[in-house]
Amino acid sequence: MLRLRSILSLILVLVTTLLVSCGGPSATVVPPTYTPEKIEQLQVFVAPIEAAREQMSVLEGFIAKDNWIDTQTFIHGPLGLLRQQMTTLSRDLLPKDQKKASQLAKEVFGHLEGLDVAAKDRNYGEAVTQYREALKDFDAFLDLVPSAN
Ligand code: ZN
Repeated sequence: MLRLRSILSLILVLVTTLLVSCGGPSATVVPPTYTPEKIEQLQVFVAPIEAAREQMSVLEGFIAKDNWIDTQTFIHGPLGLLRQQMTTLSRDLLPKDQKKASQLAKEVFGHLEGLDVAAKDRNYGEAVTQYREALKDFDAFLDLVPSAN
């Protein structure tokens, strides 16, 4: 009985191999896509990043009030984990999106560092520029992430 089963599975492997090799050049390669399970799994990583995106308006409020101390504290405090979170999420995206996502994550951090320097220099114009650029790259990053809906 055991032997029969192993013969059957061998036949199955042979048939499968045959079918695959008979697919020929007309068989198109299906691009990898997100499964519902994968999307659900990603939400765990996306949630804190989306929360940080919402908190960016707090930062805008500090800048508008020339509150440079709180601006700097906020970048290093509440947004302090963002780099790690975005990097981790980037690696979990589809291969075709990974490079762009990690590039955008780097952009966001470049601008937050620029904002940090601008806050230190009490340079309102530069702070606003860096803040807006950070938002733009942040939103582009989130656009790459599949949504659960
Ligand atoms: Zn940028």
